Amino acid sequence: MAEKNIEVPFCKPWIGEEEIKEVTETLKSGWLTTGPKVKLFEEKLAKYNKVKHAVTVDSCTAALHISLLASGLKKGDEVITTPSTFCSAVNVISYAGAKPVFADIKPKTGNVDAEKITEKVSGKTKAIMPMHYAGQPCDMGAVNKIAEGHNLLVVEDAAHALGAEYRGQKAGTLGDFGAYSFYPIKNITTGEGGAAVTNDDEAAEQMMKLRYCGIDKDGWKRYKGTGSWYYEVTQLGYKYNMSDVLAAIGVAQIDKLDKSIDIRAKTAKKYSKAFSELEGISPPFVKKDVKHSWHLYVVQLETEKLKIGRNEFIEELKKAKIGCSVNFIPIHCHSYYQKEFGLRKGMFPETEKTFERIISLPLFPGLTEQQTDYVIETVSELIKKNRR
Ligand SMILES: *Cc1c(COP(=O)(O)O)cnc(C)c1O
Repeated sequence: MAEKNIEVPFCKPWIGEEEIKEVTETLKSGWLTTGPKVKLFEEKLAKYNKVKHAVTVDSCTAALHISLLASGLKKGDEVITTPSTFCSAVNVISYAGAKPVFADIKPKTGNVDAEKITEKVSGKTKAIMPMHYAGQPCDMGAVNKIAEGHNLLVVEDAAHALGAEYRGQKAGTLGDFGAYSFYPIKNITTGEGGAAVTNDDEAAEQMMKLRYCGIDKDGWKRYKGTGSWYYEVTQLGYKYNMSDVLAAIGVAQIDKLDKSIDIRAKTAKKYSKAFSELEGISPPFVKKDVKHSWHLYVVQLETEKLKIGRNEFIEELKKAKIGCSVNFIPIHCHSYYQKEFGLRKGMFPETEKTFERIISLPLFPGLTEQQTDYVIETVSELIKKNRR
């Protein structure tokens, strides 16, 4: 094996003096809850994505939840999404009182298969929730066409895709609502956090109420100079608002986003060049009409050509001190969703087959040349050693 004294974490957030300065300034300002930094961060997010409104919350999960609520889901409505996603993106459909319905993926991209969405549309379908896997936008032309044909709303789970583009337009702004995540390993972070974006004025206003207890104004507006002590709760809301301390991190992070994507793309290119020449492993497939945001770098093992499976491969990487992950354990393989929605193994064969082959390798802006080379060497040696 290559050099033994290198360690490569799966991910490390890209935090520098800019973030520390913003946070320190905020702490010294005396205003810690939702206030001027949140407002500034929302303005920057909206501007970056060329969208009218950005509503920050404390997670992408919350952003998806308030997007679904603002889209007017009713009990018994169905929302079509992918089984290859993070659990919380499915839970929000239940929170909103609706039922998740799943459409299988296209194994090449890991994104939901538009043809499979069409098969799942029923009289109860109200929305489609595509998820841009790893940072590569779904075929939004096809998704939006289905939505238009059946009068459905489109809520994009863009947790991986801040900065990604589909035919020149930012991911998250291609449907009616888009949700971003600022969890530490995502493209930008606020520690924990998320945001919903929309061009719909009324929906944005609704989401602002939903994120703060159903109150018609937030705390900052209430206590700011002209504000009064009075407030009114007009509906059931949630306590999802983002703190100014965290928004301060986001303010610094978003200025570095494009640079961060460029660095990630460069590393991804280097990985792909090495792995495309190697029998036994496939680098991620990138479509021509997208800009990938490279949240994740996911390889597929050609397990039929190897003597070891994905799990053993990961064990070997672990021994070599290389961090990795599997995105995602299919939703229908978890006991809760099986019990709750009558799902079982075998229902989404492409998702399952892909799941058995995927590994997410380290990809983050701070990854050094030496670390990248070490990952390439280690993976290549493991493939060669274990080929049938
Ligand atoms: C990370 C993630 C989420 C949730 O994001 P949080 O900010 O942690 O709530 C939702 N969907 C997908 C696909 C994710 O990877």
